[in-house]
Amino acid sequence: MSGPVSGPVSGEVPEPDEVTEPWWEATRRRVLLVQRCGACGHAQHPPRALCTACGSARDLGWTEASGAAEVDACTVVERAMPGFTPPYVVARVRLAEGVLLLSNVVADDPYQVGGGDPLRLDWRPLPDGRALPVFVPSER
Ligand SMILES: [Zn+2]
Repeated sequence: MSGPVSGPVSGEVPEPDEVTEPWWEATRRRVLLVQRCGACGHAQHPPRALCTACGSARDLGWTEASGAAEVDACTVVERAMPGFTPPYVVARVRLAEGVLLLSNVVADDPYQVGGGDPLRLDWRPLPDGRALPVFVPSER
């Protein structure tokens, strides 16, 4: 196992487990997956072993996110973290698929990023070939 890698929020990127492995593998292809329950249609993130809406464990599948999103809430971080030059934006992002994702918004002026801003998906490569989904402002 390699050493800690800086992540968007916690400072570390979690190691994949049985549940999150497919999600992480898809990031190698720069595909953002959203877990969706085939029994009730519920979409959820992060991936879990059970559907949080109906409790089904059998019917969970994956759908590819379109990449369209908007800022649900965000904050500008002015403290330095490895791999990040402050100030940078930590945001709760709402995907078009309806799920919330903690991520970063990479903007020329972090202080201009606000709730409701439209975003599109981008990727921040990790040394091991995986990537973290980040977002950039998009035109309305
Ligand atoms: Zn369900």
